[in-house]
Amino acid sequence: MVKIAILIREETSHKCTGKGCLKSFNQKTESFARYQGTDIELVGFFHSGGDLDYKLQKMKEAGVEIIHVSTCMRAKYEGYAELVQRIGKDFDVIGYTHGSTEGKKVATLSVTGKISLVSKS
Ligand code: SF4
Repeated sequence: MVKIAILIREETSHKCTGKGCLKSFNQKTESFARYQGTDIELVGFFHSGGDLDYKLQKMKEAGVEIIHVSTCMRAKYEGYAELVQRIGKDFDVIGYTHGSTEGKKVATLSVTGKISLVSKS
């Protein structure tokens, strides 16, 4: 069982239910297609505001191995690249959740290698 968390953009969370992220997670499509044939569990779904270091520490303690940084983070979060690198010190990171593999303006950044199954795009 691979434990996963999804990190979304705080401002977007004010009006988004997370439906797109959760649909792709549940159906193992888009950024979650890499887990076909693998048991996965969604342990956390949280936004970028507040005490993010605390939230990430809680995810680590809960055994989360991979964090998907959401597509809205890729599109609109200032400091997306720095955040992916920062989180990548403790987790494998996939830099989008649903929609196109690459962003229209921002390239998808990921940090992989800690978990062997995270090798496909
Ligand atoms: S990536 Fe899409 S579904 Fe997920 S939180 Fe952002 S806007 Fe909502």
